[in-house]
Amino acid sequence: MSDYDVIVIGAGNGGLMAAARLAKKGVRVLVLERHNIPGGCATSFCRGRFEFEVALHQLSGLGTEGYQGPLWRMLASVDAIDKLDFVTMTDLYRLQLSGTDLDITLRPDRQQLVADLQAKFPHEKEGIQKFIDFSYAYFGEAIGAYYMQDPDAGPDKYPLYFKYALKSAQDVLNEYFKDPLLKFVIAPYWSYIGVPPSLMSFHDLVSVIVGYCEFKPSHIKGGSQALSNAVVDTIIQNSGTIRFSNGVKKIIVKGGVVQGVITEKGEEITSRIVISNASKISTFVDMMDSKDVPAEVTREMRQISIAQGALVLYMGLDCPPEAVDIKESTNFVFGTDDYDRAYQQMKNLEVTNEDMMLMSCYNLVDPGFSPEGTSQVAVVTLKYGDTWLQVPPSQYAAKKYECADVILNRLAEFYPNLRDHIEEIEIATPITSMRYLGTQRGSIYAYDHFIKNSDHFVRNQTHIKGLHGVGGWFGMIGFQPTLTSGVVAAKNVLKELN
Ligand SMILES: Cc1cc2nc3c(=O)[nH]c(=O)nc-3n(C[C@H](O)[C@H](O)[C@H](O)COP(=O)(O)OP(=O)(O)OC[C@H]3O[C@@H](n4cnc5c(N)ncnc54)[C@H](O)[C@@H]3O)c2cc1C
Repeated sequence: MSDYDVIVIGAGNGGLMAAARLAKKGVRVLVLERHNIPGGCATSFCRGRFEFEVALHQLSGLGTEGYQGPLWRMLASVDAIDKLDFVTMTDLYRLQLSGTDLDITLRPDRQQLVADLQAKFPHEKEGIQKFIDFSYAYFGEAIGAYYMQDPDAGPDKYPLYFKYALKSAQDVLNEYFKDPLLKFVIAPYWSYIGVPPSLMSFHDLVSVIVGYCEFKPSHIKGGSQALSNAVVDTIIQNSGTIRFSNGVKKIIVKGGVVQGVITEKGEEITSRIVISNASKISTFVDMMDSKDVPAEVTREMRQISIAQGALVLYMGLDCPPEAVDIKESTNFVFGTDDYDRAYQQMKNLEVTNEDMMLMSCYNLVDPGFSPEGTSQVAVVTLKYGDTWLQVPPSQYAAKKYECADVILNRLAEFYPNLRDHIEEIEIATPITSMRYLGTQRGSIYAYDHFIKNSDHFVRNQTHIKGLHGVGGWFGMIGFQPTLTSGVVAAKNVLKELN
């Protein structure tokens, strides 16, 4: 008999959710995590009197107790809902454009969104109403045709889905609007996927906009670490085992069939089924002999390129958000209204006026998020990791402080006294993610989500019997999608075990 029924490599969202669902079904599951805490991106770290949220800015798909979204039901299925407190955010985002007076806040409500956009762009009134109605209609069809995998799906039954899913988001925005500034205002969520509207599918952009409008963006009290801890509790309460500081070095495959793993400590553990929450590249290149990697996987991996990492400033302020004029939880600041230029800038090491910034401050919706009288602010600027790998170790610290300095100077245009109130600051770069997540080039979005690699084409099959993949590298990125990938993997594993 094998040591375990299932071994899960990695305790990120996908791995933890898969393990919890399996443990609840009585499956003997072992989670092996390289880091000394659970969560992967869904984690926190402490500096001074602050516990910093690493990743989560806006949780999608949760809804509320009275209007439950898919994520609510998913978390309830692993007993996590009762262990957590959530806060619904009141803004979709505030968007500001450097050097201009553009400053607009949009709310997560269909009617309100239309009204606010129409008030700002009265000359596009009709197009705005039509676009939002169309987006909802499209998304309704996508639920049936794509997410529910309707076996009868076809252009007659789902005409909008089949016509628009793979159009570029920019093409669809051009179809509805003339004013370039309006297109700019509607689309900053491209930065949650990583490629600009001209290169991303309409499906990916509309899923984020409609998803947040319908179920509202949420925040978890205690941050995403609380979520990871709650799921770990469920694994343990259901007799699952989780070992931290226990990386996997090798997946043992014989004759195209999984046999178990060898840990970085040299221990061999057998299992007929392995679920990998590590990156696709780590799974097939680092942890497997090349002779065992199926040709389909090699072909698929040749078609993808590694996505951005992030430069993140984590700041603890010695004052409440109002004292530095932060009025909303989620704030986009762009230096150019040309999203293609902002995207190109992500390939350069230096931070310039054209870089995007996403600034989040949960204290607006959860005053208890940091010690009384303080606030916690995270500023994300996306950057490809290649250039960071060229920085000599001796210059690394100086370079990251230099980049942080430019970001703080740029923020001063809108938040002039923020710098004076910094009590703690920590700066993460793509190198930080390489270290803590083990991802290639510190990517936080897995691979570039160009249309050709969109959700619709990248499959999570591993083509190896007994090997399953979960998380952002085997599907879509983000909390809700990676947690969902765990549910799907658990379902497939149960079928296989039976
Ligand atoms: C700065 C930032 C902001 C973000 N903002 C949002 C947001 O607002 N909303 C949203 O929905 N999403 C957001 N995301 C994305 C989201 O956090 C991720 O898509 C998601 O958490 C990834 O989950 P995952 O299952 O892919 O696992 P990961 O988080 O990638 O975790 C994988 C785990 O596997 C472990 N591992 C790797 N290799 C091995 C090995 N060989 N042996 C053992 N363990 C191993 C790693 O240590 C890690 O713990 C953000 C991400 C970042 C970094």
